[in-house]
Amino acid sequence: MDSPALLLTTLLLAFLALMAWYWFIRRRQVRPLTVEQRSLLEEEVAFYRRLSKTDKKRFEQSIAQFLEEITITGVETEVTQADRLLVAASAVIPLFGFPGWRYRNLNEVLLYPNTFDEDYQVKAAQRDIIGMVGSGAMNRMMILSLPALRDSFAHPERRQNVGIHEFIHLLDKADGATDGMPEVLIPQEYVMPWLKLMHHEIAEIREEDSDINPYGATNEAEFLSVVAEYFFSQPEKFEHNHPELYAMMSRIFRQEL
Ligand SMILES: [Zn+2]
Repeated sequence: MDSPALLLTTLLLAFLALMAWYWFIRRRQVRPLTVEQRSLLEEEVAFYRRLSKTDKKRFEQSIAQFLEEITITGVETEVTQADRLLVAASAVIPLFGFPGWRYRNLNEVLLYPNTFDEDYQVKAAQRDIIGMVGSGAMNRMMILSLPALRDSFAHPERRQNVGIHEFIHLLDKADGATDGMPEVLIPQEYVMPWLKLMHHEIAEIREEDSDINPYGATNEAEFLSVVAEYFFSQPEKFEHNHPELYAMMSRIFRQEL
């Protein structure tokens, strides 16, 4: 080998070594969950309780990674360790079938002391929103009502979970359009069957012939978020009452619950 080639090879190897070292350090930086955090998950998150030992480990790692990367801020409200874990669990649950995937369109989650209106005002007269994915100046942000988030995990039997609902919107939004068709999740061959099934189920909700939250009939995006709440909170009941939809959701989210 002549010397310029040798130099180039040396430089390339040094560069690769540096990259490997950087990657290793970054991976190492994620602090594992404490015993206290793990027992909080056990107490508060039904989805986690159902996992096998190996999957629990993977769930904990994803939670730790999320907490490392995303800022969680209480707005005029005190946020506890358990609250942070509930936000992280809401994020990790929908993506649990996609190891290594992360939310690239999110920096911060704001926790509000109450419901709010469309301008993110808590004190407005018309405030009935419990969660929202921000747009415009609030891009890359999510807002959740803290009492609603706590309620969601305390009562999985209600089949509603504001955290999961908003994280599904975020996944749906990743392709540019919040339209109930998250292209990142749905392989091409499921697009048509999913649309057909979605429209059929929306029609059933409108005919009041469904136990799916009627809010799901608002539009396709809300339908996706609403059925995902049901799917992840009460999988057995969901499978029993909506076998076809359950099969489709397990394919989309790559999870058998
Ligand atoms: Zn929604």
